[in-house]
Amino acid sequence: ITFADLNLCAPVQRAIADAGYTSPTPIQAQAIPYVLRGGDLMAGAQTGTGKTAGFTLPILHRLSENPLNTPAGKPRCLILSPTRELAAQISESVTTYGKYLPLKSMVVFGGVNINPQITRLKKPVDILVATPGRLLDLSNQKALDLSAIEILVLDEADRMLDMGFIHDIKKVLALLPKKRQNLLFSATFSDEIKRLADNLLNTPDLVEV
Ligand code: AMP
Repeated sequence: ITFADLNLCAPVQRAIADAGYTSPTPIQAQAIPYVLRGGDLMAGAQTGTGKTAGFTLPILHRLSENPLNTPAGKPRCLILSPTRELAAQISESVTTYGKYLPLKSMVVFGGVNINPQITRLKKPVDILVATPGRLLDLSNQKALDLSAIEILVLDEADRMLDMGFIHDIKKVLALLPKKRQNLLFSATFSDEIKRLADNLLNTPDLVEV
């Protein structure tokens, strides 16, 4: 299987070629067609498998299919990450793979001054990468409106639960519109993850590498 077989739009394929990737990794080959179809997905994948591109590439494709004039502070896609390091990495991937698309992305995490983030959210953002606590702070301060989210990603969901983020995640979920696509990535599948998946995912496709 090649990237051409995955039917990603030309701007995304061009960014992939620029990155020097010649063929999709197993998680990408399996996950990308599901995500493009718009269904929910539960994916078992460790770091290093190419999972980030596995959700980022099809998300960029889907959002670019109907480019909207995204209003300020009202993202269409939310990617939740347990740590700021991972959030920053995901955000870099979004920028790299989306460089030929007119989509705007931004990353927010705690431990840094919130005011520049509030200022940036006064401008359009399509894809928001966030850690849960800072996301809720921004929402509580009305800097952020999550009512237009079309796609939610929980990356490294097992780590988020290990770090005690379940209550924050539940609060975030309550702020999202009911009709949306949900993607859950986790390296392990504990009972707690399965419960979260049961609550979150609608007849999900299952992918494991
Ligand atoms: P991840 O598992 O998402 O953290 O990605 C691990 C590394 O694999 C990153 O440095 C990516 O740049 C790289 N990568 C992702 N997809 C591919 C691919 N299809 N071919 C070669 N390298 C890739």
